[in-house]
Amino acid sequence: VAKSQGKGGMALFDSQMKQQADRRLELEIELRHALADDPAQLTIAFQPIFSLTEGRIQGVEALARWNHPTLGAISPAQFIPVAEEAGLIGAVGAFVLEEAGRQVVAWSRQLGRPLQLSINLSVRQLQEEDIVERIQATLQRLGIVAGQLELEVTESVMMQHPELVVDRLSRLRKSGIRIAADDFGTGYSSMAVLAQLPLDVIKVDRSFVSGLEEHSEATAIIQAILELAHALNLTTTAEGIETQLQWDSLQELGCTNGQGYFFCRPLSAEAIGSFLLEKEAALPPQLKAA
Ligand code: C2E
Ligand code: MG
Ligand code: MG
Ligand code: MG
Repeated sequence: VAKSQGKGGMALFDSQMKQQADRRLELEIELRHALADDPAQLTIAFQPIFSLTEGRIQGVEALARWNHPTLGAISPAQFIPVAEEAGLIGAVGAFVLEEAGRQVVAWSRQLGRPLQLSINLSVRQLQEEDIVERIQATLQRLGIVAGQLELEVTESVMMQHPELVVDRLSRLRKSGIRIAADDFGTGYSSMAVLAQLPLDVIKVDRSFVSGLEEHSEATAIIQAILELAHALNLTTTAEGIETQLQWDSLQELGCTNGQGYFFCRPLSAEAIGSFLLEKEAALPPQLKAA
């Protein structure tokens, strides 16, 4: 395309490429700096996950946030890939597990029942030789039982590295940690590979959930995913629920859990702490912890 536009087009193309590379390098330098000297720039937002079958909050998903003093808020869609390429994802991931783990221990104590913690894990993290031992050591140190932790790995990425993923995730799963296929339905899983993955949970991608309003095909696809999950003995979490209609449909279709702006946006630890207590107080007595 650039070539057909002649020299000017090529120059424009080059300058856009250069801008992207500059931005990437800037983010890498700034992220390295934040991790080493100013970790307060990194925080975690939490989004509650609601059990549609039990009728109460069953856990929270931890989502990394980066607030730079001059660049402002940088979304994880931008900085996670940079962290992966720059070899910084291990440090980011360790920070998220540590901080989110601490919060969940405190909230579980306040609620009087174990809250689940969902953490996103990129394949780069799974490639680290000692990742299994490091996660287990952190859980032990924080006093989190393995069954409280769910690790989310994007479905499409799992498929690109099946041997590595099966090896590492199987070892984590043997210790009791649950494994979720994130953004399910956007990749190209063959049924054969899917059945071999060490999974406990399928997270139905937001694109299908948002289709529930208009398209009956979205309903059919979600139904098929839920049936598949059921056949493989997996639970299901629908992500990105934004309306009452989507919420009700997913509950009727038998989806296990739901999360999304409709119920609660990802919020700071302080805000989520109050939200959890408020929702727990409003539960009917038989659902409250003793
Ligand atoms: P994800 O794990 O699929 O997370 C769901 C994303 O959807 C989050 O975006 C969340 O804020 C957003 N979301 C939740 N409910 C709704 C809704 O109702 N409507 C809409 N439109 N969006 C909703 P976020 O926080 O920007 O994170 C983007 C992605 O970055 C995550 O997708 C995950 O893949 C990655 N990520 C975030 N934190 C981490 C982390 O600590 N480690 C790694 N490896 N990846 C992370
Ligand atoms: Mg996720
Ligand atoms: Mg997702
Ligand atoms: Mg995603």
